[in-house]
Amino acid sequence: MIPPRRELIGLTQSDLERFFAEIGERPFRAKQILKWIYRFRLRDFEPMSDMPIPLRVKLAESCAIGRLRIAGKISSRDGATKLLFRLDDGASVEAVHIPAEDRHTACLSTQVGCALGCSFCATGTMGFIRNLTAAEIVGQFLGIEEALDVKLTNVVLMGMGEPLLNLGAVIPALDLFSDDNALALGHRRVTLSTVGIPAKIDELLDSGMKPKLAISLSAPDDALRARLMPSAAKIAPIGEILRAASRYANLTARWFTVEYVLLRGVNDSLAHADKLSALLLELPCKVNLIRYNEVAGLGFKAPEDDTVDRFIGYLCAAGLTATIRQSKGDNISAACGQLASKTAIE
Ligand code: SF4
Repeated sequence: MIPPRRELIGLTQSDLERFFAEIGERPFRAKQILKWIYRFRLRDFEPMSDMPIPLRVKLAESCAIGRLRIAGKISSRDGATKLLFRLDDGASVEAVHIPAEDRHTACLSTQVGCALGCSFCATGTMGFIRNLTAAEIVGQFLGIEEALDVKLTNVVLMGMGEPLLNLGAVIPALDLFSDDNALALGHRRVTLSTVGIPAKIDELLDSGMKPKLAISLSAPDDALRARLMPSAAKIAPIGEILRAASRYANLTARWFTVEYVLLRGVNDSLAHADKLSALLLELPCKVNLIRYNEVAGLGFKAPEDDTVDRFIGYLCAAGLTATIRQSKGDNISAACGQLASKTAIE
């Protein structure tokens, strides 16, 4: 039987240095091949002109530079496009391209499904199926660029799954997004969105990766959070999460973001705004309010426009920096909390 070829997408510079050492080659080959794979987007070894021909032949026989298979694609009236990727084992994940005047953002998934089951989220209804590999996370980025012929400028790990529960793959993917020899986005243009898992936030800090951190809070107290995000609430109380996020912000010298999904009649009153202000006022953070995008069958409704205005007005008057995220792609179920690979886009 022919052994499977080694997939090179998803391997960081140090992974590749180890790989080249194993096959008797010098470590500087790692930087060379990163450049060919990510800057020149080669999928064949033959044109890699700064490598000796015998090495190119050896790589062609034993390695692959793969791409994810795109099983479907749908664009919304506001310009967002959702792609469905079919993975080798038949599982599928979604990623979204969100264009704006000054940027092209990729919202990527880190898991198939999600174990946390937040009550307002479509992905949560799928349950947890499996973690994505680093190759599958980076592969969504490459797939969006190639399918839509765009140059992505930003990444948000905010698609399906909880990134901090898959750090084994997320850390190498972050490395490739930021590495100047690979996708060269730096740390500032990559955001990791999480429900907040204090020990894992510390682990991320220790890894040396420094994406911007967004904490999905959506409730100003533990009792309401336990109703909306029961599994997340069991992991840690809000106070502990905010302490870990503040530590991260201070050590990376970058404020964290608090994401707050506004749900009509559930967490959108001025009393909630008041509690939220008291919680966050002294912390190195800003607030991103997200109008809920309704998901059939989950029983939550989007907030009224004037409720949103009053809520943000209260936070700003209290001294917080707050914005309303314009969530694109709601008519194709590509907006925040709407990703679930069973949505029919094939
Ligand atoms: S909101 Fe995030 S953490 Fe919660 S179920 Fe959805 S994907 Fe998982």
